[in-house]
Amino acid sequence: MNDCLFCKMVVGEIQPDVVYEDEQVLAFRDIHPKAPTHILVIPKQHVATLNDLQDTKLAGHLLQTVTQIAAAEGIAEAGYRTVINCNNAGGQEVYHLHLHLLGGRTMTWPAG
Ligand code: AMP
Repeated sequence: MNDCLFCKMVVGEIQPDVVYEDEQVLAFRDIHPKAPTHILVIPKQHVATLNDLQDTKLAGHLLQTVTQIAAAEGIAEAGYRTVINCNNAGGQEVYHLHLHLLGGRTMTWPAG
């Protein structure tokens, strides 16, 4: 999509701090980190929200990418949090599906 921030990253128009990339997904550091490790994992194809995610293979690959990055970042054993904000009440600001990977500190619950 032309005016989608994360699509612009996929095509290289905007260059985020990439930590992982393959044919289907891109992962990069959040520009306003909420934890010592805060990485966003996105599908390269434009999927606006979690409600629009139809491809179960892609869904699995997104989750697997999170676990692989958590291991690579050294936070898998201590633990981390994965968040998907969906739509307005869910706190979604960028309407291109993304999984937040947050770690490097102890999380509190419930989330705000
Ligand atoms: P959400 O509220 O779930 O839609 O999260 C959107 C996330 O995108 C926020 O954590 C922002 O800090 C992050 N973000 C916005 N612009 C950029 C950017 N240019 N590079 C990296 N992360 C970004």
